[in-house]
Amino acid sequence: MEVTFVGTGSGKTQLKRFHTSLLISSKNHSLLIDTGDGISKALLSLEIDLNKIDSIFITHTHSDHFSGIASLLTQMKMAERTKPLYFYIHSSFVNFANNFLFSSFLFPETFNFLFKIIGYNFGQKILFDENFGILPLQNTHITNKHNVKLIPKNNFVSASILIMDAEISIHYTSDIGSIADLSLFNEFFPKYLIVESTHVSFYHIINYLENSFVEKVYLVHINDNDGIVDKHSKLSYKLKNKIFITYDGMKVYPTI
Ligand SMILES: [Zn+2]
Ligand SMILES: [Zn+2]
Repeated sequence: MEVTFVGTGSGKTQLKRFHTSLLISSKNHSLLIDTGDGISKALLSLEIDLNKIDSIFITHTHSDHFSGIASLLTQMKMAERTKPLYFYIHSSFVNFANNFLFSSFLFPETFNFLFKIIGYNFGQKILFDENFGILPLQNTHITNKHNVKLIPKNNFVSASILIMDAEISIHYTSDIGSIADLSLFNEFFPKYLIVESTHVSFYHIINYLENSFVEKVYLVHINDNDGIVDKHSKLSYKLKNKIFITYDGMKVYPTI
């Protein structure tokens, strides 16, 4: 499995980092996780061929995770893509996704490729090939804290995911709401953790890791004004070999 950190930034627009997005490639399938504002330019700057992407998965619809989708599909259309594209969004957002594309004057029936929107549900595994798949679980990132009444209750959804192939599993938090969300996949004992660093503090993450079976940790969703590089530089040698600050274009190859 190859993990490419396409973007590693937080929700804040920054010049040195695109918003956080991952490209996970197994032998036969490449999955793009999240398509925030600027995703097309992020992929272009890394010279990633858009035809490499087989599926797209949206963890939640905050603009730094979703709002680049219309532009990305437009680029694929202009590049005369013919390969099918599967787009996974939570089942309560399927109508929204259809309407969003329609309002962007993007009509999948005019594409040269099959574009299929698939609604996912928490706790239901998605298999992309015989070994490669993900399991989405609901985290506490999106709650109705302002008690907004116009939005249906079941639309307050945000996913963390377990990424699996035959040998390895990776817990990708995407955006979370509290430190408790770090334990969502404990029953699967993932060795790798890709963790956001905006909604939980750096030191909370370090504390969590002290009693964790996780072996390698990659920090994403970074706001460089938060001083995270400085905090990381003060860690012990041992922790520096376990916890890594990611950058756009970084690749890792998780192994057993
Ligand atoms: Zn975010
Ligand atoms: Zn978010």
